[in-house]
Amino acid sequence: MKIVIAGAGAMGSRFAIMLKRGGNEVTLIDGWPAHIEAIREHGLRANLNGEELSVPFPIYAQQEVPTDVQADLILVFTKAMQLDQMMQTIQPMIGAETKILCLLNGIGHEDTIEKYVAADKIFLGNTIWTADLIGPGQVRLFGEGSVELQNLKPGYESEAKEVAAVLADAGLHAAYSENIRYSIYRKACVNGTLNGLCSILDVNIAQFGSTSTARKMVETIVGEFAAVARHEAVELDIPEVVRHIEETYDPAGIGMHYPSMYQDLINNHRKTEIDYINGAISRKGEKYNVATPYCDFLTQLIHAKEEVLEAK
Ligand code: NAD
Repeated sequence: MKIVIAGAGAMGSRFAIMLKRGGNEVTLIDGWPAHIEAIREHGLRANLNGEELSVPFPIYAQQEVPTDVQADLILVFTKAMQLDQMMQTIQPMIGAETKILCLLNGIGHEDTIEKYVAADKIFLGNTIWTADLIGPGQVRLFGEGSVELQNLKPGYESEAKEVAAVLADAGLHAAYSENIRYSIYRKACVNGTLNGLCSILDVNIAQFGSTSTARKMVETIVGEFAAVARHEAVELDIPEVVRHIEETYDPAGIGMHYPSMYQDLINNHRKTEIDYINGAISRKGEKYNVATPYCDFLTQLIHAKEEVLEAK
């Protein structure tokens, strides 16, 4: 299958390598010149569970997208705030039969993608695979993960199952989901609590979890997500979601980790996806007339921190 990875950062690189190893023809599109240059020179260098690899890929900058390659499947893997620009630039690679799969963190990406592609060609999902970009052209890929996905438009279940099968055949442990919107909201609750709060408090997940105010903050934020989700016919099980978040505090699990937003913002002074997590809840809250004061405040705090750190 002809697969294009639109956004070949940490996660795009993981999926590219695994899909290519699975026998697919994989092309990369990216917007970071140093990364593109490094991949052209040395291939994409990866440490995959201890195995050192250097995998060659055709890679194009967003401003030089080829007009003669039409993809069967495009995986968008930008950061949320780069998605619109990426969708604009990959237009020449989208044919009448091209499917688009979006596994980005956050809420509401279908609204961006639908500006460029009909709903029956869009597939939404989420993933618990992880990846680290350690420098231009170089990634660290440890651990195992999975993907769940579903068709955006009702009636396209068999197409969604075909997309899941392509990923599953490449070892990505992908499966069709009956209710991806629930999973997307549930995962957004994890990101919408731990990402922003650990970044602002300058703590890892276990340290956050050990504070006396963690429970109240988590319950309130999850409550805001749930109140908004209800307007989109998603009924979150609040106690279960809170328990799921609290399980991450265990130092023997991922408790000693700093969330990805912390690493992007505090360590690398990169802009965050907050507008597509808590910020999305604030926007939707306004639309549905639901008060979301904790999400509003957390979004403002993170933007203020981006300004203080001159994040790019
Ligand atoms: P990423 O930041 O590694 O890559 C996104 C884009 O930013 C790429 O085009 C990349 O080339 C570019 N980029 C990266 N570093 C840059 C730099 N220093 N200067 C200029 N450009 C740079 O993003 P990601 O971690 O792959 O995340 C993609 C999506 O997947 C996001 O929505 C994220 O929340 C989600 N996600 C990530 C992980 C993870 O473990 N990384 C896990 C699950 C979901």
